[in-house]
Amino acid sequence: MDLIVRDARAHPTGDRYPEPVDIGIAGGSIVRIAPRGTMRAAGGVPELRADGRLVSPPLVDPHVHLDAVLTVGEPRHNESGTLIEGILTWAERKRTLTHDDVKRRAYEAILWEVAQGTGLIRSHVDVCDPDLVALRALLELREEVRDIVELQLIAFPQDGILSFPDGPALMREALRLGCDVVGGIPHYEWTREDGVAEVQFIFDLARETGRPIDLHCDETDDPESRFLEHVAARTIRDGMQGRVVAGHTTAMGSYNDAYAFKLIQLLRHAGVTIVANPLDNIVLQGRFDSYPKRRGMTRVKELDAAGINVACGHDSIMDPWYPLGRGSLLDALSMLVHVAQMTGRGELFRAFEMVTTNPLRSAGRADWGVREGAPANLVVFDCEDEAEAIRLRPAARWVLREGRVVAETEPARSTVHRAAGDTTVTFQKSRGG
Ligand SMILES: [Zn+2]
Repeated sequence: MDLIVRDARAHPTGDRYPEPVDIGIAGGSIVRIAPRGTMRAAGGVPELRADGRLVSPPLVDPHVHLDAVLTVGEPRHNESGTLIEGILTWAERKRTLTHDDVKRRAYEAILWEVAQGTGLIRSHVDVCDPDLVALRALLELREEVRDIVELQLIAFPQDGILSFPDGPALMREALRLGCDVVGGIPHYEWTREDGVAEVQFIFDLARETGRPIDLHCDETDDPESRFLEHVAARTIRDGMQGRVVAGHTTAMGSYNDAYAFKLIQLLRHAGVTIVANPLDNIVLQGRFDSYPKRRGMTRVKELDAAGINVACGHDSIMDPWYPLGRGSLLDALSMLVHVAQMTGRGELFRAFEMVTTNPLRSAGRADWGVREGAPANLVVFDCEDEAEAIRLRPAARWVLREGRVVAETEPARSTVHRAAGDTTVTFQKSRGG
């Protein structure tokens, strides 16, 4: 044994307050899980004392734009707060990108995410650039950060494939250089027909290259934007079930219920994963509405209830689209449960899967989890269970990658000074006597 995590409550707790366990790790894998206090080890094996805290698989960020992170205010702030001003501001900033600039900002954001318990990041990279500056930088960084995180890169045509000069050639070149995943943005093409043609192009490219697909789809409040049905249909026809992810799909929040019902059946048949990005979309969507003002998020609760794999991404971290963010998937998930009204007791536990198990499955890492035989990729959070993780967004006490502690955080403790003496405050509800 190389390491033992003592006295941890193992995910999924399922609201059952399961008895704490000890977790034995050797050779980068979980080799044994046993009731608390029963695991014996030879002297000198290091131990982490979880003291009844939650241990879970790492958080996953299934949708972020690492090439754009931390560029807020460059060259100017997005004062209207709209998606379109974000895209136009980014187009200006993009002209000044350099290799080192991209690597430095992306690396900083990766450290923020890892420190908070993220073990796998899927990043879109804008490939509408004849020199592919950002892509070359992130391909290098992907290898350099392998000791702390798995980074998967998506070839993302921000300005369209058919609507951008040499768009198809740039997509092919991005895949040839080593992108892991084929991206897309059909709703942004100049015409509906071009959008449909784009969907066909990316599926052809996925077939040629053997890569999975993860596209931006119907990120608009326009109820006529219906590219997701084309994505689902091609997924079924090409036998790509389980290998296709559609991000945003906010138009679903504006579809009529009859159409949404049909689409949800089709998505289930297709095994398409839906990624909601509630931090960005709660501020970007509904911008053309007065009142009532739409929430502009996809139908998270209904999709989940229908058995569709749903995940939650951070999307932006201080960029032209969203000036806030600190790389916390639990911040994003907190926003999701509010916007989707998933505050039922059981719903909070289901929601936690949207930043762990569900995106692990769609990223091809379903083998990660708190199980014997799984890679020892784990996080001990400073809380008791998954619902508390969403409420408190607690410190990631220890973050493990293949059995090695790659980040640790001392939980914050406040002290209130009463006249009669000091009281410690941790924001965890006391259990009474
Ligand atoms: Zn995005």
